[in-house]
Amino acid sequence: MVEDCARLERQGWYEFVRDYAVMARALLQHYFPSLDPELDQHTLGVFQRARENQGRWFTSLRFANEREFLMSFRELVFAYARENSRLPAPPVSLAQMQQVMAELTVVEREVLWLFMKGYSAAQIAPILMNAEATAQAVKDKADRKLATILPDANADSFRLSARVLMEEAERAHGEKCLPLRTFNNLINGQISWRERELTEQHIRDCLNCLDRYTAFQEMIRLRKDARPLPEPEIQAMLDRLGITRPRSFFAKLLSMKA
Ligand SMILES: [Zn+2]
Repeated sequence: MVEDCARLERQGWYEFVRDYAVMARALLQHYFPSLDPELDQHTLGVFQRARENQGRWFTSLRFANEREFLMSFRELVFAYARENSRLPAPPVSLAQMQQVMAELTVVEREVLWLFMKGYSAAQIAPILMNAEATAQAVKDKADRKLATILPDANADSFRLSARVLMEEAERAHGEKCLPLRTFNNLINGQISWRERELTEQHIRDCLNCLDRYTAFQEMIRLRKDARPLPEPEIQAMLDRLGITRPRSFFAKLLSMKA
């Protein structure tokens, strides 16, 4: 699909739009609610960005599997949306978030980070493959801690801070940060006990990897749950993206003879 898209071939773009438009829409709705009134226009905007400069985005990609491609796609959606939606003032600062997380284990931090990203306990359980009750217990603990730091905090304080905290987390990127391949091995259980320990220790202490690792799992879940875009919508989007319709067999034959 990716090679076809880089060549602006309709079949590749057909599959890209069919399978990924629903995910772009879900991410925009979830993280950028201010774009909601023109959601379809912004979804198209994401694909237009991938289409720009003769599909340069596709030729710049480096990935080993679909899960890694999903992360590049996520970055494309966020890059587009951040330019189109103003950054809200966060109720919870980075320092306060770090105070709340101080006594949490790595798994509890992953749970809290996903709550901060606006997911409920019922949604977090299948993303992290743990129990809903566990997720809720972490949230309750974090809420109690936040209340001692920020007395006027409410149930939405974490979620309303998501965009700012996620951008802060990205800035924490360092040389020792984990590659996507390691996240994949961790999820698939293809990792030694010792390696797992070191990896989890890094995720526990590195905001960037906490954000990326939870995003990786979030994208896998989103991909599993995404339904294909309905046929008429795919065709309409391809037309608006200027991806030409394939020429018929006879048209090709004629041009060969010419
Ligand atoms: Zn890191």
